[in-house]
Amino acid sequence: MSEPIPPDRLTTPRFKQLLNQCIHCGLCLPACPTYAVFGTEMDAPRGRIALMRAASEGRVALNGAVGKHINLCLACRACEPVCPSGVQYGALVETTRIALEAARRSGVIERAIRRLALREMMPHVQRLRFVTAWMRLYQLIGLQGLVRALNFLPKNLKAMETLMPPLPKKYPDYRQPAPALGAKRGAVAFFYGCIQDAFLAQVNEATIRVLQHNGYEVHFPALQTCCGAAQLHVGEEELARDLARQNINAFLTPTPAPPPSATGEGFDAIVNNAGGCGATLKEYAHLLQDDPAYAEKAKQFVAKLKDINEFLVEHLNVPPKGIVKARATYADSCHLRNVQKVIKPPRDLLQAIPGVELVELKQPDRCCGSAGVYNIVQVDTANAILDAKMADIASTGADTIVATNTGCHLQLIAGVRRAKLNARVVHLVELLDQSYAAESKM
Ligand code: SF4
Ligand code: SF4
Repeated sequence: MSEPIPPDRLTTPRFKQLLNQCIHCGLCLPACPTYAVFGTEMDAPRGRIALMRAASEGRVALNGAVGKHINLCLACRACEPVCPSGVQYGALVETTRIALEAARRSGVIERAIRRLALREMMPHVQRLRFVTAWMRLYQLIGLQGLVRALNFLPKNLKAMETLMPPLPKKYPDYRQPAPALGAKRGAVAFFYGCIQDAFLAQVNEATIRVLQHNGYEVHFPALQTCCGAAQLHVGEEELARDLARQNINAFLTPTPAPPPSATGEGFDAIVNNAGGCGATLKEYAHLLQDDPAYAEKAKQFVAKLKDINEFLVEHLNVPPKGIVKARATYADSCHLRNVQKVIKPPRDLLQAIPGVELVELKQPDRCCGSAGVYNIVQVDTANAILDAKMADIASTGADTIVATNTGCHLQLIAGVRRAKLNARVVHLVELLDQSYAAESKM
């Protein structure tokens, strides 16, 4: 039998250099959620790197068993901060997934569903809102309760349905900037996201109010679109690049032009409130590094980007004074923690809210099993990881679970129901918003 031919992407000097950084020490194993579930080397970072190396040297075919272990990876990147050799595991797994996707022949139905979700729906906020309105009707007339009680859906569809939260009754109006309240401190552009806007509109509303309360005029560049995270997660690299270019145009050269900023050009900051989207937005410079028309613009865009926690911890001009009674635990978003390295700011902000008692998890760095579409395609493993997360949460006795990413937020709402916990899931800005509201009634 002839040797498998490795895909070009896995034979580049850059990919080999990334592979060679691994010194096989195994210190990453305890950090890996899939290793905790399976206990097998091939489902741990070191084993997956060995598989990538074997595929890049043509010793094994990329699809088949190798593909299975690569696809079982959450891409949570919890293996990166603990690695003494600085292995860029995220870059390795992303490249391997793109090569896997290129080598795979997907069926007509799968291609149609994927096109519908990734190209025709997620980049278009109004289409998503339209579909969400019908989903809300499904909830209002009791169909959701019936479907859940009868429990007849196939596994993947059931997993998707389970993630549907109580849907919003109304949405923010992005047609006009929201004015600063009190003394104006500057102007920011808000990246409102796709699923975040459609499913968790209350989080975006709270974000806008909190920014206004702290003296910021909030702008909503009209041509912004989905960040491209889900597209990258399934190996659709070219589509993700197109979305990145559209966002760069929307935020760097918006119509109408933004007011002069403190730094003299454009907005003072581009703010987003979802850890996963923010991580992808911050990787635009890497994604477009070979595009001569956008490489420099991508760097300018990234230089202005701030996660809402990063921004507020530096610009909490109006400290919250209203009391919010909550025993709260914070569930780190993997991409906020491991990719953006935003770990302390959310904790500092929580501790700044009067009445909030912060109780840390035993494993705050452990993924909840959401991971893009992982909880829909790898249902059993995602549920095992979620169950471990919910047990950790339950042991804190928290009545409030604080999330800072859309996927985690939806997964934890489903997790509360699954674990029968008496707790609410909120984004951190919702607690700040509640504190400001409570203060106004004092
Ligand atoms: S910790 Fe880093 S160097 Fe050690 S096995 Fe894991 S990836 Fe390789
Ligand atoms: S990214 Fe997460 S699931 Fe994948 S190997 Fe690293 S720690 Fe394990």
